[in-house]
Amino acid sequence: MTFAFTPPFAPAIQIEGESLLFPVRRIWCVGRNYADHAREMGHDPEREPPFFFGKPSDAVAPGGGILAFPSQTQDLHHEVELAVALHGGGENLTPAQGLEAVFGYGLALDMTRRDLQAEAKAKSRPWDMAKGFDQSCPIGALRRANGQPARGAILLKVNGQVRQSGRLDDMIWSVGECLAALSRLVRLAPGDILLTGTPAGVGPVLPGDILEAESQAAPSLCVTYLAHQGLAKTRAHG
Ligand code: MN
Repeated sequence: MTFAFTPPFAPAIQIEGESLLFPVRRIWCVGRNYADHAREMGHDPEREPPFFFGKPSDAVAPGGGILAFPSQTQDLHHEVELAVALHGGGENLTPAQGLEAVFGYGLALDMTRRDLQAEAKAKSRPWDMAKGFDQSCPIGALRRANGQPARGAILLKVNGQVRQSGRLDDMIWSVGECLAALSRLVRLAPGDILLTGTPAGVGPVLPGDILEAESQAAPSLCVTYLAHQGLAKTRAHG
């Protein structure tokens, strides 16, 4: 069998200290998984079970770097998140089985066209164009988990100023619990990535801004946005 044209570029993420790459299968995201962020978005953090949305696998911008400022938004927002990368999977996992499936942890940005998301919410439309646009998911190098949960602080600086600061222990639903819940909805598999929600402090990003994500749990991630707005030129699209 021969493909009718060159198959799409397969997205992959670096692994800290190794020449091997982590191949990305799917990107899932948890909404409102830190109480202070749920409150800042106008929701009651105590009563809502985890809910999920997705981004295309080629929305990943491996290692961050210099990115196009996305088109069609006047209110691009940053959401710094712990990315959980799987080398196992299955369905109906327990939280302990979920943790066993974890390959490693990385720092990610769930970049969001907040204006398009607000419009989608108001009209009961899908979030895809608010959340799943090209390069909407910068992810830094992965650190192998070796069966351990991720601990410590997570923070995001914009142009050197701290905008978001939280603790991974403050997640409403733990990594294992999120994976267990997700595995009741889809069969998880190696290459799947879960973004675990963002702490409070989400806010606007402007052309030319420099974003730096830091944590004890994973290598740092830095993104610089170009000064002009437009469609991303990803490797997948030449
Ligand atoms: Mn998010």
